[in-house]
Amino acid sequence: MTFPVVGMVGGGQLARMTHEAGIPLGIRFKLLSDTPQDSAAQVVNDVVVGDYRDLETLRAFAAGCDVVTFDHEHVPTEHLRVLEAEGIPVRPGPDALVHAQDKGVMRAGLDAIGVPCPRHRIVEDPADVTRFAAEGTGFPVVLKTVRGGYDGKGVWVVRDEQQAAEPFRAGVPVLAEEKVDFARELAANVVRSPHGQAVVYPVVESIQVDGVCDTVIAPAPGLPEERALEAQRIALDIAAELGVVGHLAVELFETRDGRVLVNELAMRPHNSGHWTQDGAVTSQFANHVRAVLDLPLGDPRPRASWTVMANVLGGDYPDMYSAYLHCMARDPQLKIHMYGKDVKPGRKVGHVTTYGDDLADVRERARHAAGYLRGTITE
Ligand code: ADP
Repeated sequence: MTFPVVGMVGGGQLARMTHEAGIPLGIRFKLLSDTPQDSAAQVVNDVVVGDYRDLETLRAFAAGCDVVTFDHEHVPTEHLRVLEAEGIPVRPGPDALVHAQDKGVMRAGLDAIGVPCPRHRIVEDPADVTRFAAEGTGFPVVLKTVRGGYDGKGVWVVRDEQQAAEPFRAGVPVLAEEKVDFARELAANVVRSPHGQAVVYPVVESIQVDGVCDTVIAPAPGLPEERALEAQRIALDIAAELGVVGHLAVELFETRDGRVLVNELAMRPHNSGHWTQDGAVTSQFANHVRAVLDLPLGDPRPRASWTVMANVLGGDYPDMYSAYLHCMARDPQLKIHMYGKDVKPGRKVGHVTTYGDDLADVRERARHAAGYLRGTITE
């Protein structure tokens, strides 16, 4: 067999869908998963169950791989340096990945490239937060622990010095940012390969509900072309300057006065790119596989005027399969992607995509299907 083995650290849905994208190419896949029940571990043939924080586990896993990549950002960079020193290609490499692990390092890296960001600095204590506020337009201020946050956890909007005490309790450095008065959130997604080829997807709008991504619209409706190009340029610059390999999601704020500011980075396939599975010529997952293997990248262009992705969150009904009959009969163009996860309230267990020429209709079909699967829409 001359087909390479891609080692994926992390057994979540991103790994599951990346594996799926490698199947038609005959790429072999090896998974390091926390448990045998994880989303990707259910479908990958070659699974090692182990702890990605343990160097010996990682080393033994990587020994059978031609390249190692990730479905999350949490592998310690010092371990990745050891793997690299031992000759295993790690993509993205630790010097890039650290910018997606640590929001303080990310802001410093973006400042060095000259990318527009919200005003920010590391703060020492609550009194320092008050000084940070006074340096700008005052409270409220956004505080973030530099590591360990996800889906809005690890982010606080504070209105005074008293409220600013909470984030410091974790004992992790705290980043203060101006609270951006944004009109909406966008994402500019690119894929870059080791030989420096890069492709950029259309800029999308990402709608969050309670800090969790709910809906993604591709392309972002009403986004002026020059702002879309600027967002794509920012994402391409970040990928090139930080030496990212694979998929890079750049989450952006579009401000009410027409600027785009970078919120954060993810160096792996990302929820804002799920629409590409059905809505782009080459999906983010297929391009991630190509990139980590240093193959030529595939066409990122959209296949429809509009594609909408809606996340399916767990609701009160554990049996989502019973909803398929209605959803599929109602909308034969609907695409359902389920992750094999137990249904728990609020947990991301799948997503749907719809596409077409009439945005209102495309949005409504996605909203209906996601709600019906969850059980919040019953007809
Ligand atoms: P996470 O690591 O949890 O994804 P983010 O840094 O993306 O954290 O922040 C989560 C959400 O908090 C964002 O999607 C946005 O809605 C809000 N937010 C974050 N930073 C700011 C900011 N500087 N100004 C206004 N809102 C913000």
